[in-house]
Amino acid sequence: MIDQFQRPLHDLRISVTDRCNFRCVYCMPKEVFGKDFAFMERDELLSFEEMTRLARISVAHGVEKIRLTGGEPLLRKGIEELVAMLAELRTPAGRPIDIAMTTNGSVLALKAQALKDAGLKRVTVSLDSLDDATFRAMNDVKFPVSKVLNSLDVAHSAGLGPIKINMVLKRGQNDQDIVAMARHFKGTPYILRFIEFMDVGSSNGWEMADVVPSGEVVARINAELPLEEVAPNYNGETSRRWRYRDGEGEIGVISSVTQSFCHSCSRARVSTDGKLFTCLFATEGHDLRALMRGGSTDEQLAAVMTQIWRERTDRYSELRSAETGRLRASAKKRIEMSYIGG
Ligand code: SAM
Ligand code: SF4
Ligand code: SF4
Repeated sequence: MIDQFQRPLHDLRISVTDRCNFRCVYCMPKEVFGKDFAFMERDELLSFEEMTRLARISVAHGVEKIRLTGGEPLLRKGIEELVAMLAELRTPAGRPIDIAMTTNGSVLALKAQALKDAGLKRVTVSLDSLDDATFRAMNDVKFPVSKVLNSLDVAHSAGLGPIKINMVLKRGQNDQDIVAMARHFKGTPYILRFIEFMDVGSSNGWEMADVVPSGEVVARINAELPLEEVAPNYNGETSRRWRYRDGEGEIGVISSVTQSFCHSCSRARVSTDGKLFTCLFATEGHDLRALMRGGSTDEQLAAVMTQIWRERTDRYSELRSAETGRLRASAKKRIEMSYIGG
């Protein structure tokens, strides 16, 4: 399956819940996602069977990698059952699927072994600071760093590696911790990745002034811990790799704002309620749940999904940089990351 810019469909991200126990300031700010916020009802969510059905069809059409995300995926009850169902899928060439998960790590220590046993290959854990006060302020529910660090160790021991760590940078909030994070994870089995704060959704009050460009991140680390660039692991890798010159591992930078990678974007996303989105910045998705619950056959679903991908022309980040001349979030109402899946 190839889209209008010759990009194949390779990755599927499934948002398994729109709920989260954190209120990260750049994702689900408390002022918007407060006590009165209407999260989805249970019957609105795709069931595990429905998710697996969409995954099976996608795998038959080229998907080789599935990432479970959210919201916080580990809040979805029985998530390991879904992992086990997905682990049975095979590509047309007979290979198993690469199944990964992005999690905030808050309950990962409790779930790591069950997830591994069910067939999960790897986890990516989000961690925005090692400084307890900074981290508590960023997750905005006073969650301590020590519990996430413990989860990392448990997940590593359970074999859920190589574990990547995502640090979203917001200027003035946690950029003072860049070198400390690099130093802490240098020489460990964990691969730290620095992510530019993106203008995804409409509620996080994004401004270009809040973005710490990856170029600056690399320069700040390089000044203290010398780095050299490494070739990507595969074509279309979103993260640019840099390794320490002394051989003690590598870091990654994900420059979604300053160096868009739309040209190689091979991801589709399924929201918690079963809408198919072909871009993180899309304003509308295609309702696959309605088709499934309305009695569509696998062939009919496959035809719809194939047609959507073939017509795909998304390249939001490229256009944002090119069109505005200077970077700023467009005024259009967009879908929240917690719903569409990061
Ligand atoms: N709750 C899980 C977690 O935090 O890992 C999974 C979902 S979260 C939406 C997925 C990833 O998106 C996390 O690494 C998070 O830090 C990142 N993210 C959320 N909002 C973002 C934003 N505005 N810009 C860049 N990354 C963001
Ligand atoms: Fe929750 Fe993840 Fe969003 Fe933070 S980034 S609020 S942990 S979904
Ligand atoms: Fe892919 Fe859209 Fe992000 Fe571009 S802006 S990399 S098309 S998700």
